[in-house]
Amino acid sequence: MSIAANVKAILAGLPPGVELVAAAKTRTPAEILEAVEAGVKVIGQNYVQEAAEAFAVVGRRARWHLIGHLQKNKAKRAVEIFDIIETIDSIGLGREIDKRAAAAGRTVEVLIEINSGREPQKTGVMPDEAEALVRTLAALPRLRVLGLMTMGPFEGDPEDSRPYFRETRRVRDALAKAAVPGVEMRHLSMGMSHSWRVAVEEGATIVRIGTAIFGPRPSRP
Ligand SMILES: *Cc1c(COP(=O)(O)O)cnc(C)c1O
Repeated sequence: MSIAANVKAILAGLPPGVELVAAAKTRTPAEILEAVEAGVKVIGQNYVQEAAEAFAVVGRRARWHLIGHLQKNKAKRAVEIFDIIETIDSIGLGREIDKRAAAAGRTVEVLIEINSGREPQKTGVMPDEAEALVRTLAALPRLRVLGLMTMGPFEGDPEDSRPYFRETRRVRDALAKAAVPGVEMRHLSMGMSHSWRVAVEEGATIVRIGTAIFGPRPSRP
């Protein structure tokens, strides 16, 4: 199927209120434009440099979410491109973005990345540390916390992803109950090509889909 046909099929299958982010790592600007023209409203990028190249072509015809880990030395460029940074997992990173956002005269919307599998080698804040992080970030004037994001397994049986999504939702519900001033728990970004249906069942409001839109990724040299 073509990119356009894939986009239309996925959009038709998403319940109302669930937003599609086209996960576009390794895709060319032409492929991304095809997806946008077929109805994609949000592009997800993992790397700031790759996003900058696509952004130069697509610009504000779409909104941009950073869905990969951000290095502090890329925060300035990230603030110029991205509408939402989905992967905040430390106070240091939050402070850096707040500083860059102030310099750019804007406010940046962010999601907190949750390490829902509690795997020490992975990115994301541990579930038990999420509330403390959110309370600290809430005090930063140029940051707006709008919810949570999690990764979960990249492949395999979609049911194996369910505990990761359920855990992230549990953290979301606890944070909503904590009602930290200035913080909204509007978004739950979880689910990929193989797992988005399970993620939606577990309350996702954003799904990040790459392969099912663009086809298998070319292997990196
Ligand atoms: C690549 C990627 C996705 C999409 O994965 P697919 O299996 O291609 O749908 C979603 N989220 C993140 C953070 C990614 O890096």
